[in-house]
Amino acid sequence: MQTHEISKRFTEYFVANDHTKVASASLILEDPNLLFVNAGMVQFKPYFLGDAPAPYPRATSVQKCVRTGDIDEVGKTTRHNTFFQMAGNFSFGDYFKAGAIEHAWTLLTNSVADGGYGFDPDRLWATVYNDDDEALELWQKIAGLPLDRIQRRGGEDNYWDMGVPGPGGPCSEIYYDRGPEHGRDGGPEADEDRYLEIWNLVFMQDERGELSPKKGHPPVGSLPRKNIDTGMGIERVAYLLQGVDNVYETDLVRPVISKAEEMSGRRYGAGNAVDDVRFRVIADHARSGMMIIGDGVTPGNEARGYVLRRLLRRIVRSVRLLGVQEPVLGEFAKVVRDTMSPSYPDLASDFARIESVMRKEEETFLATLVSGSKIFDLAADKIKAEGRAMLPGDQAFQLHDTYGFPIDLTLEMAAEKGLSVDENGFRELMAQQRARAKADAASRKTGHGDQSVYRDLLALGGTEFTGYTDLASESVIRG
Ligand code: ATP
Ligand code: MG
Ligand code: MG
Ligand code: MG
Repeated sequence: MQTHEISKRFTEYFVANDHTKVASASLILEDPNLLFVNAGMVQFKPYFLGDAPAPYPRATSVQKCVRTGDIDEVGKTTRHNTFFQMAGNFSFGDYFKAGAIEHAWTLLTNSVADGGYGFDPDRLWATVYNDDDEALELWQKIAGLPLDRIQRRGGEDNYWDMGVPGPGGPCSEIYYDRGPEHGRDGGPEADEDRYLEIWNLVFMQDERGELSPKKGHPPVGSLPRKNIDTGMGIERVAYLLQGVDNVYETDLVRPVISKAEEMSGRRYGAGNAVDDVRFRVIADHARSGMMIIGDGVTPGNEARGYVLRRLLRRIVRSVRLLGVQEPVLGEFAKVVRDTMSPSYPDLASDFARIESVMRKEEETFLATLVSGSKIFDLAADKIKAEGRAMLPGDQAFQLHDTYGFPIDLTLEMAAEKGLSVDENGFRELMAQQRARAKADAASRKTGHGDQSVYRDLLALGGTEFTGYTDLASESVIRG
């Protein structure tokens, strides 16, 4: 079953069950705590927090998500993308645990002919939070799950909250057993790669205090209206239903691997494990990079722009390590557009802009990659010859500052040589540089007068301000 069909069935099932279909929000929402939207519930937060009344009792969405925290897992586990699509159903004070379990079970196990995903019920497992007997009994009653396929797990895995006082609640996760050839017996608690998590159900029922129930502290009260928040990973379901080995080989990701194979003349899955990780990283990052640019981010040195820069530069370096010397991002952009634009038409209509952002970033990086790599190799060889094992912070800083190497790239290169990096030293120098830049900006401000005057001028009459030569400030003024 194609990824697109998996999304479609999800939406159709929940719409048929009285859920309002809500479009994915942008990856970028104004939220000081969040670089990128990372779950389906984010756009519904005001309803869950009680800040606004929910306009519908039930909703469903397929949300674009980026999880930068998973970047190091990409290509190494079978299940972590930096960009993925989370399908969810939400209840705002409407159905609760029984409804959530029943819906998930029905959609997963209904036959393909009946609009479901046709999973073999005997391969599905569920987890419940420690003392959530209610959920445990519902899994037995509604799904007929035997007790030996329901596991109780602790707060770290099976309690959800927002990290601050407010709503919280136990979760129940649904796993698919890929079989003994993929790992140890013993359920998700024993092996999360053999048992693949596909769906997480959050039962929002508690009022969490200062201390989190995740760490064993009891909630301070219960919510007057209980809510349901769920998330099913579309790529993970695709991985299982398409009979492939991981999320990178599914219909919407694998074509980038094929392109990289064609360019490099090397084959994916030919027994070179290091190359295979690179192929998967390339395919994953090409897609996330493009989706992030699609939502308006451009590469830069802070926050979202920096994440994007890291993703794009990591592709460029990985491709070189596969032996490709030419620029590649424009080519990958076309492949991602062709696979993803049926679901995200902006990728096609806005393609010229997106592709040009990618190509420019690649050009900038290529201009320094070769010289930076040489500097790095010299430094690394010297350190090893001296019997040391750590790249000093000032060298990592120089690579960053002069050659545009994001720190995780330096970390990755060092690890390939069996070296560590003095990250604290690096961060210290970064902090010093930021402080210097701040002081410079302050003195420029007094020298040239307050820029906000010009900004106001522009806003008023559209008069173009041309007297300022500092490029960075200019872009602020033209904004
Ligand atoms: P895992 O434990 O495997 O990292 P998770 O518990 O962090 O997953 P949730 O926060 O519960 O994931 O997200 C809900 C669902 O979204 C998961 O059950 C999974 O199907 C999917 N999902 C989560 N992270 C990723 C990812 N990095 N790539 C693809 N799908 C993901
Ligand atoms: Mg995770
Ligand atoms: Mg999990
Ligand atoms: Mg989970």
